[in-house]
Amino acid sequence: MRPTASRITGLETTVFAEMSALAARTGALNLGQGFPDEDGPDVVVEAARQALRAGHNQYAPGPGLPVLREAVAAHQGRHHGLELDPTSQVVVTTGATEGIAAALLALVNPGDEVIVLEPYYDSYVAMIQMAGGVRRPVTLRAPDFRLDAEALRAAVTPRTTMILLNTPHNPTGTVLSRAELQVVADVATTHDLTVVTDEVYEHLVLDPDAEHVPLATLPGMFERTLTLSSVGKSWSLTGWKVGWATGPTDLVAALTTAKQWLTYTSGGPLQPAVAVALTEAYDFPAALRTSLRERRDHLVGGLRDLGVPTHLPQGTYFALSDVSDLGWSDAAAFCDALPERAGVVAIPASAFHDDVEAGRHLVRWAFCKRREVLDEALDKLARADLHA
Ligand SMILES: *Cc1c(COP(=O)(O)O)cnc(C)c1O
Repeated sequence: MRPTASRITGLETTVFAEMSALAARTGALNLGQGFPDEDGPDVVVEAARQALRAGHNQYAPGPGLPVLREAVAAHQGRHHGLELDPTSQVVVTTGATEGIAAALLALVNPGDEVIVLEPYYDSYVAMIQMAGGVRRPVTLRAPDFRLDAEALRAAVTPRTTMILLNTPHNPTGTVLSRAELQVVADVATTHDLTVVTDEVYEHLVLDPDAEHVPLATLPGMFERTLTLSSVGKSWSLTGWKVGWATGPTDLVAALTTAKQWLTYTSGGPLQPAVAVALTEAYDFPAALRTSLRERRDHLVGGLRDLGVPTHLPQGTYFALSDVSDLGWSDAAAFCDALPERAGVVAIPASAFHDDVEAGRHLVRWAFCKRREVLDEALDKLARADLHA
């Protein structure tokens, strides 16, 4: 084997690719990877088709098409009351994934510590490592998965430079409350930290009592916060990989500098269509929310009826179960056995923890699938022996 760089040591294949391959190999129903099995709005798909036919097939400008940057600025204004200059405070990225990569490469020096909520989205781990940073996880713990203010304060060291936040949070479904965000803001202000906040599920808050509050809207936070989002989750277009970063001019400029050497630009014909999503199809996420709430209740209720204790998430499209009551000491073993036992694939959340004990019993299910698929999965689970 030829030598490889330490930058990628331990980052081999993501658990999603592994579990999706397992689903394909065994013909099992895939409740693992979080992509919907129904596409986003026709008017948006049609806009992309027209853009392809109208010859929008060459490079879009590096920071993104003006029409899309304006639509993103208008979206941040309409939904969150943030007033942005579309030319200097908005940049289009190749999904939120590139936003995460470019933000970390632009803002983290080797040896800098980055505080991150765990269970974490796995690209955070990879990109903190590739940037040469050191991750300092703060654990959202079962059964409630709320932010532990003391743990957050205790995670700060003289080397901390950044908090990488995610709300609504994958995979716990926690939507950080205004009070929890105020704790984050206080820590960031006290220690002069930059915050990168991943808000790709901003429109997928399913609990009427919960509310998505962008961290950048808290007093004094805009100046130190980069906000990331994308069209994928909220408009059921995960394959398009069109996202955006917004924030103060200096942070957006830094992110753009790194981004231009990653992809420079992407999705030329998709960018005008995403502008249509944010304007003409702005109400699509509200309808998706209603239907996702039903599907969440159906899956969580079904799992609980089967004796699988399952947390009701406030948002996103994931629910976490604790399989220790079924006699499993390890969620990974449960997930390995599940395709053969039941013909269903789920993801062990232990993969998203440094604190292995905190995640050992947790299994993640995606409920962004058609009702029939969830029914079939629950039927299969009901017929299987789920005990260790
Ligand atoms: C899906 C997801 C992303 C990736 O977003 P893309 O726009 O598809 O790149 C980023 N963060 C979280 C928490 C996600 O669940």
